[in-house]
Amino acid sequence: MQAQTNSGDLLNGFSVDVEDWYQVADFAAVLGFEDWDRYESRVAANTDRVLALLDEAGGVKGTFFVLTWNAERHPEIVRRIAAAGHEVASHGYAHKLIYEQTPEEFRADVSRAKNILEDITSTPVLGYRAPSFSITSRSLWALDVLLELGFRYDSSVFPVRDSLYGLPDAQRFPYVIRERDGRCLTEFPITTTPLLGRNLPLGGGGYLRMLPYPYMAWGMRRVNRAEGKPAVVYIHPWEVDPGQPRLKTAGKRGFSTHYVGLGGTEAKVRRLLRAFRFAPIRDVLGLA
Ligand SMILES: [Zn+2]
Repeated sequence: MQAQTNSGDLLNGFSVDVEDWYQVADFAAVLGFEDWDRYESRVAANTDRVLALLDEAGGVKGTFFVLTWNAERHPEIVRRIAAAGHEVASHGYAHKLIYEQTPEEFRADVSRAKNILEDITSTPVLGYRAPSFSITSRSLWALDVLLELGFRYDSSVFPVRDSLYGLPDAQRFPYVIRERDGRCLTEFPITTTPLLGRNLPLGGGGYLRMLPYPYMAWGMRRVNRAEGKPAVVYIHPWEVDPGQPRLKTAGKRGFSTHYVGLGGTEAKVRRLLRAFRFAPIRDVLGLA
């Protein structure tokens, strides 16, 4: 038996951005949206691996932000996610960075994605996560679009400084970010922990893959215990797939981190699931 931590009874959000190994910003220069159909799809098998991980951890429930291009081709994945009691939310349709779209293009992408998911699950989609956390100072209008489309929460703002994303001075914990005509949109920012005047990214994804597990556990304990606030963790199905094909690319930041640490991610997720309490984001925010 693993020792239980004393992180209290605080519920954290566990989230999965359901995209395939080739649908990432790092590969955009060598492999665009129009090429997606030419690559081997591994998203169904990898999502099943994540579902099994959550099940093995005692039936932990999470939020799956589904990239809807995948939902069109594999609606059974969405059905399996919903049937297992997880929340189905939206990661948009085509994984285009928001600040590279016009508000009209963004609205069309997200509205199409929301409708497709709601047709498959017959359940309203409450949450949205932007591709590569691309709600930044250049694309804050996206929040108004989300509110208009009926979303109840967004989980895309990353209060860090990064070349690809980030709103370094944004609030770090859930708050109402837009409100109009009696409706509101709550933001659940990607989790950070402050140190020496900066916010260190926790979150998950590449940070969980590349940094040692104790860093993540230390940060989450600080957030849960010292600050008494919920964290939100995210992973991608391709991050538990060390056997995925290898592409050569320079990456969006001039280097690619896509393949670093793939072999150890599953074990780190297992440890996190044992050490902290998790739930779907809608439940953590009390929107269910
Ligand atoms: Zn994504």
